[in-house]
Amino acid sequence: MLKNKIVVGILPTYNYKNEENSPYNDIAYFVRMYEEKIKECGAIAIGLLNNDISIYKDICDAYIWPGGKVIHKELYVVFDDILKNKKPLLGICLGSQAIATFFNVLEDQVNNPNLSLIEIYDSNKMDDLYLKKLDNDSLTLHSNNLTKDIKSINNAKHEINIKKNTFMYDIYKETKISVVSLHSYAIARISKDIIVSSLSNDNIIESIEYKKDNNHILGIQYHPEVNNDYKPFIWLIEQAYNKYKLIINKDNKFTNNSFKLINYTSNYPNISDNESFIEEQTLYAFLKLKDKMLDLGFIMDLQSGYRSKILQEKIFNDTKKEKGIKHANMFVAKPGYSEHQSGLAVDVCACINGKWYIEFAKELDIFYKVLHKYCADYGFILRYKKNKEDITGYAYEPWHLRYVGSISLAKKIMEKDLVLEEI
Ligand SMILES: [Zn+2]
Repeated sequence: MLKNKIVVGILPTYNYKNEENSPYNDIAYFVRMYEEKIKECGAIAIGLLNNDISIYKDICDAYIWPGGKVIHKELYVVFDDILKNKKPLLGICLGSQAIATFFNVLEDQVNNPNLSLIEIYDSNKMDDLYLKKLDNDSLTLHSNNLTKDIKSINNAKHEINIKKNTFMYDIYKETKISVVSLHSYAIARISKDIIVSSLSNDNIIESIEYKKDNNHILGIQYHPEVNNDYKPFIWLIEQAYNKYKLIINKDNKFTNNSFKLINYTSNYPNISDNESFIEEQTLYAFLKLKDKMLDLGFIMDLQSGYRSKILQEKIFNDTKKEKGIKHANMFVAKPGYSEHQSGLAVDVCACINGKWYIEFAKELDIFYKVLHKYCADYGFILRYKKNKEDITGYAYEPWHLRYVGSISLAKKIMEKDLVLEEI
């Protein structure tokens, strides 16, 4: 993320040779086409135009593999980041075929462990194992004779049939939609972990999905950009927020350690050094919220941010010693089960007339009211609400905010008086 905005990396486009008048000679062709659409969906798009795609992996939250003439197999390296870090991927047209092919090659590698993915691709590609050329009837339906006239493309929609319980159904909430496509090849082989989620009436594969191990990979054969169908792009961006949406509670242990922590200097004098870290995007949002509160007349700061497992253990044991096990269970998470270990949770405090107040100090009543009204504008929710103790497992904590990444999700939670477990 960049300044709380999801970054979508768009892979380059490739052609065989410099074909005359082919738009695919321009590696940034689809970067230009999708960039504005992604921006309109509230995210930032960048073109991954350097030969070394891996340099972008720390910036990108999601990827688009666009169309083109040829699957540039060197781009397979992007799957390292996608599968390892569960980043969502949307393949469009040739990009969809590239996804299908990647998983075929991966499947074939099991029997040829000494060969690299690229070597396997090169040997099987010769036999056209992965993709098939459309026959003449299908070609008319799916390529509209590859016309370049957008007006007639719009008139050349065809129907696809979407299966339920798929990403496609989540996106469209319909079993039949009309799409525009422009392709002369189709996916011929499906590997075992890939789901075919829609077909055209002439049984051409229109979308494939990989959802194993909590991945969100979707390939669509059609071109949503032609008829301003923003839904697949919005889906992609929403999935990218997933990592900030994670539930950590008494039943769900925190295991993801990919969050980047930043040291932060709080003006609250009693903060301990090892609680002065916040996850990078959370910190950015926190500083904006802090500014907003100052505008409204409140001096707010951090009382406790990230806690290591060891520190959480100490806090739990100290509370147990001081106030008993029942109190400790109600207010303090067991080590491994605290939101504070993610860096996404902040306990805030406020300074009133030169004095700092924390937790249930009644001087903070108005401060909390204002804080809870505005926190969602910056992606924060009140995590432990009144009357939700049975669901969250914790007593009301007006000071404990949790960053969820998406402002629209935070607003939904706060406006509808929900907690994260109810989403
Ligand atoms: Zn807290």
